[in-house]
Amino acid sequence: MLTLTQIAPLRDALAAHTHLHKRIALVPTMGALHEGHLRLVDVARGLADLVVISVFVNPLQFRPGEDFTAYPRRLEQDRALAAARGVAVLFAPDVDEMYGSGTETRVVPGDTASRWEGAIRPQHFDGVLTVVAKLLNIVSPQVIVFGQKDFQQVVLVRQMMLEFHYPVTMSVVPTVREPDGLAMSSRNAYLAPGDRQAARALPDALRAVQDLFASGERSAAALQRAARDVLEAAPGVAPDYIAVTDPTHLAPRETAGPGDVVMLAARVGSTRLIDNVILGAAQI
Ligand code: AMP
Repeated sequence: MLTLTQIAPLRDALAAHTHLHKRIALVPTMGALHEGHLRLVDVARGLADLVVISVFVNPLQFRPGEDFTAYPRRLEQDRALAAARGVAVLFAPDVDEMYGSGTETRVVPGDTASRWEGAIRPQHFDGVLTVVAKLLNIVSPQVIVFGQKDFQQVVLVRQMMLEFHYPVTMSVVPTVREPDGLAMSSRNAYLAPGDRQAARALPDALRAVQDLFASGERSAAALQRAARDVLEAAPGVAPDYIAVTDPTHLAPRETAGPGDVVMLAARVGSTRLIDNVILGAAQI
C-alpha cells in the first residue's frame, strides 16, 4: 500500500492506473479506522480495481468548541488496518496541503442541510461537501463509498454529485454495529464505561420503532414517542432529535411508510452520537 500526503504525487500515482482504464474507488474517512470503515473498503474493492482511502480530520466541518483537536488520530494503526484490507493508496494530507490554497470558496448546500445535524451544527455540511468536492477533484474516482450511519451526509453528497455533474457512482454501506447494536464510530472511544452501557439505548430505541412499525403503527408521532421513551429511560442519555423523515430530502413525515428513515441523535454523557434506521428494512 502506498501512503501519500501530497496531492501532486497522488495524482501522478493514479494517472498511471487511469491510463490503463482501471476503476478507482474512493473511501473518504477521518481515520481512527474501525470495522465500519473497513466494510466500506470491502465494498469498494468489489466495485473497482483499486481503492483509495483518505484519512483527513477536516477542520472545515467542525465548529469552534467541537472536538476537532480531541478527535482521535491514529495514522500508524490506520495504515496497518487499511493495508491488511487491500487498500492500494492511503491519502493522508495535512491541513495545509488541503487548504493552503485558501478556503474562500465553499460548497453551500440547500435546505436539506439545515435540518437535523445541520440545525445543531450550522455550516457542518458546507465543510463536509467542500472536502468531498476537493477529494473528488483530487482522486477522480469512478465510485465513492459512504456509510449509511451518516445518512444526512449521504443524501447531501448524492445531491451535490447530481447537481454538479460528477461522473461518479455512490455506493452506500449499511451501518456496522457492535454486538449490542451500537453503531461503530470513532467517537465511541470517548464513552466512559457507564456511558458505553447507556449508549445501547440508541439502537434499542431504533429497534423499538422498527418493531412498532412492523406491528402496523404509521403515526410518526407515535413512532418517535416510542424511541424517545427508550432513550429517556437510559441514564445520562439526552435525545437531540428523533424524526421520521422522507429518504430524499429528510423532511419530517406525519405518516410513516416503508423506506422512510428514522433519524436520531442523542448526547450520552458528553458525547454526541447519531444513528438511523430505514423503516421496513431487514436490519438492526
Ligand atoms: P468518518 O471517519 O466517521 O467520517 O466516517 C467515514 C465513512 O465511514 C463515512 O462514510 C461513514 O458513514 C462511514 N462509517 C462510519 N461508521 C460506520 C459504521 N459503523 N458503519 C458503516 N459505515 C460507517
